Parts: sequence; C-alpha cells; structure tokens
Amino acid sequence: MLQKRLLIMTIKLDKSIKFDISYPVVIVGGGAAGLTAALAARDEGIEVLVLERDSEPRGTTSMSQGNIAGAGTKSQKINGIEDSGDIFAKDIINLTKGETDHSLAKFYANESGKTIDWLVEKHRIPLELDLDWGAKLGHSKPRIHCTPSKTGIELMTLLTNACSSSGVDILTNAHVTELYKDENNAVIGLKYKRPDGSSENVGCNSLIIATSGFGANKEMIKKFIPDMSDAIYHGHEGNDGAGINWGIELGAATKDMSSFQGLGALSEPSRILIHYNTILRGGIIINTEGKRFTDESKDISGMGRKVSSQPNGFVWFVFDEEIHKFSKKYEEHKDAIESGAIKKAKNLEDLSKITKISITNLKQTFSDIMKIQAGTFKDPFGRVYDPNLFLKGPPWYTTKCVGALFHTQGGLVINEHAEVIKNDGSKLPNLYAAGGTARSISGPSDWGYIPAAGLFTATTQGRIAGKNAGVKNKYK
Ligand SMILES: Cc1cc2nc3c(=O)[nH]c(=O)nc-3n(C[C@H](O)[C@H](O)[C@H](O)COP(=O)(O)OP(=O)(O)OC[C@H]3O[C@@H](n4cnc5c(N)ncnc54)[C@H](O)[C@@H]3O)c2cc1C
Repeated sequence: MLQKRLLIMTIKLDKSIKFDISYPVVIVGGGAAGLTAALAARDEGIEVLVLERDSEPRGTTSMSQGNIAGAGTKSQKINGIEDSGDIFAKDIINLTKGETDHSLAKFYANESGKTIDWLVEKHRIPLELDLDWGAKLGHSKPRIHCTPSKTGIELMTLLTNACSSSGVDILTNAHVTELYKDENNAVIGLKYKRPDGSSENVGCNSLIIATSGFGANKEMIKKFIPDMSDAIYHGHEGNDGAGINWGIELGAATKDMSSFQGLGALSEPSRILIHYNTILRGGIIINTEGKRFTDESKDISGMGRKVSSQPNGFVWFVFDEEIHKFSKKYEEHKDAIESGAIKKAKNLEDLSKITKISITNLKQTFSDIMKIQAGTFKDPFGRVYDPNLFLKGPPWYTTKCVGALFHTQGGLVINEHAEVIKNDGSKLPNLYAAGGTARSISGPSDWGYIPAAGLFTATTQGRIAGKNAGVKNKYK
C-alpha cells in the first residue's frame, strides 16, 4: 500500500508510509458514539477497529447519568406514552427557538427511538423509559431512557460487553495523533501512540471520528465560548477538540461552536453531580443572600451560567426529607451523602448556621415559597409547582453547588448519513462524525440543550455513522 499521502496536522508529504494493519472501518474514540457506531458497522458484517486513548473505554459517557432521550420507543408504548420523532423534533425546535437545522433535528429525532429499540433488542442493553423525569425541561413527553442503575458507567460497561459479543476489535491505550489522507481528501489511515511512546499505523477505508467535543481545550473554549473561559470544566479530559480540528484541517464545516451544556448542580467541594430531580420534585436554589434568582425548573443547561454569576459564585440547593429519600435511588445522591456534601438542617436556624445565610433572608424566602404553594403569592420567576410535589419540611437538606461547563455541543457539520460536510456543501469522501465531535441539535448556546440530548445524539449519530460506513464497505 505505497502511494502519495499527506499527513494531517503537519500537512507533509510522506511517500513511504506503510500501514501495519488495515480495517474497512476504523473508529477513533470509544465512548457511546464510537461503540454504537462499531456495533452498527458489525451488524453489517464489517470488520471494525475502535481506537481508544485511555486504558479502558469510558469517556464522558461514563461520567454521565446515562440518560438517553428517544421518541417512539417500545418502552414508551408499554408505559402508555404516545410519542413520535416528529413531536420530539418539535420540542427541540421550540427549545432552540428555531435556531437548529430543522431537517436534521427531525431526521435524528425520528431515528432516536429506533436506536433505543435496536440497543435493547439486538444488543441486549436493558434501556427502559424512566418516568421519574416526566415531561419537563423542554420534553413534552416522558422520553428519557436509562439502564437499571441509571449511570453512565453501567451504560459503558454494557456497550463494551455488547461490542465484545459482536466481535468489535477495541484497542485501548491507543492515542490517535495523526491522520493520513490522499490527494482526494480521503482519510487512508492514521497513527496512534502507545503509553511507552511507541507508535503504530493503521489503514482504513472509512473513518468515524467519535472523540467528543472540546470542553477540555482551554484555547478553543476561549475562542468559541469566551465567557466560559474561567468556568469549571466538569467533563472528560479526552475532549481536547482533536477530532473537530482534524475535520477542520480536511476542509469540514463547523457550526454552533458556542453551544454547550452547562449545569449549576455540581456539589462543592466534592464535585459530585447532584441529581436535578431534587429540584424538579420541589426543591429550590438560593444564593448566598438566601434569595432565589430564577425559575429553577426551567433551562437546566443555562443554570451553569446563572449559578456562576451569583454573589460568591455558588448557591445552595435546599430540599425536604421526602425528596431526599426519593433521591437515594440515584447513585450520585448516595455518593453525595457518603462524601458529606448533603447536610441536614433541623430547622431554618440550623440551615442558617450551615449556609452562613442571614436567618432573616431565609425566613423571608421560605415564607414566600409557602405562600406561593398555597396560591396566595405569585412566584416572581413564574415557576409552576406540581401540587403533588410541594416543598414540605423541616428538616431541610442542603448542598453547596457551583456551575460548570459539562460538554460542548458544536462541531463538524454532518448530514443524514453522519457524513462530514465541507463549507461548500459537498461531503468529504470517507469521513463520518458522531457524538460530541459532530454538531448537535442544541442550537447556538447553552439554553437550547434538551435534557439527555448528549447521549441521544451520540448513540443515534453513532448508529447511523456505523451503519452507513458498514454498508459502503460491504460492496467494496
Ligand atoms: C457529568 C456529566 C453528566 C452527563 N449526563 C448526561 C446524561 O445523563 N444524558 C446525556 O444525554 N448526556 C449527558 N452528558 C453528556 C454526554 O455524556 C455526552 O454528550 C456523551 O457521552 C458524548 O459521547 P461521545 O461518545 O461523543 O464522547 P465520549 O464518551 O467522551 O467518548 C469519546 C472517547 O474518545 C476518546 N478519545 C478522545 N480523543 C482521542 C484520540 N485522539 N485517540 C483515541 N481516543 C480518543 C476519549 O478518551 C473518549 O473515551 C453528561 C456529561 C457530563 C460531563
């Protein structure tokens, strides 16, 4: 296999390169996107290699809560929920104020339910509708699915096992550093580095980039989301933007690079993510002055910025005993209790001592809440409380939280085949992107992120990329 090749990154001619091995489909990145792509390519009977830089395939996916949005699934039907890809797409378009690609949102939303059913039926990943999320935060129907433990680690373990059963080759400790292309801009192979500093090459007919976004790349954050340059980043360190930059070097178009998911629910100092159902089930968020500052039940992603901009840069989540007991079903809630992040206050005086918030302000805020719930006072932020989920108490439970950037949502522009598109609208010959590397459906900012979109797009774009790369290689 000796021919004229160009090396991406340093763009030099290398006429002598020889690939040690070759696969029809190579995938860079072993997170949810990479592994679903691998499963779909294997379903087409194609040999596939996943290269993962870490010693185990984990990625951002293993840090996640493992929630995947999907519409029209069998699990929804069993639970009597009538939903469809078109309804899901409408929700996405509403939340993004129309500022996303409507046709792609519709296409991927319509594929989302099929992805979940395929993972369940073909690859034995026990995803079920989680009714606890309800129809909230932009979703007009309950459509968030998860595995039994509701964790990203379990999801990754199940995906890795499914890959092993399907005969997917996964090479860990393989950090891809360079791509090789031919004069037609087709990627013909790549170089990966091993932890001992040695490197190897692998050739490919099709390449799927699933390296996730650029949250860990300070320079890129500064360039594309400047006001988040100093924000806490709570994502995987592998999100260094490499895959997006390879695409750009090949001439790919990018879009929505200022888009990201933020969250204001990171406990401090333990940095455990507090489950947002603590708030959605009636809890409130107050700043260090003891004041509420927003409708906490809306715009979960935008809370990252809002929480960070509060006096002293942090807030307190406050919820009651019933919510606390309910939340113990979540692993992260148990971890937060164990780490001492969640503190119990027998009354408001106690809460004042724990939080160092003036008792006068606390009394005012809680008196307002009780009046709002009783219907004698209008919520100044427009929050609508579910009468079944009124805040009771005391005792109160509280945890100190900060805002953070979790993962970016902009990236390489792809089409309905998950093929990477150039600025002139044409496609690159054999390059696919999925998950955090590809442009999502979240619009240009943080407010357009619909919950569980990260894994919805990772798994659905991954499946589409793997399937199309697989089909293309079948007939070679
Ligand atoms: C705390 C947290 C909670 C979240 N909870 C949810 C949730 O419940 N639901 C939801 O939908 N979204 C959630 N998200 C977002 C979601 O986790 C991501 O959108 C999703 O995991 C992205 O999947 P991915 O496969 O694209 O990336 P990843 O899972 O990050 O996988 C990318 C992989 O590529 C590897 N890699 C990177 N560069 C290279 C290279 N050069 N060579 C080889 N390998 C490389 C990385 O090591 C990594 O394993 C959450 C995010 C965070 C941070």
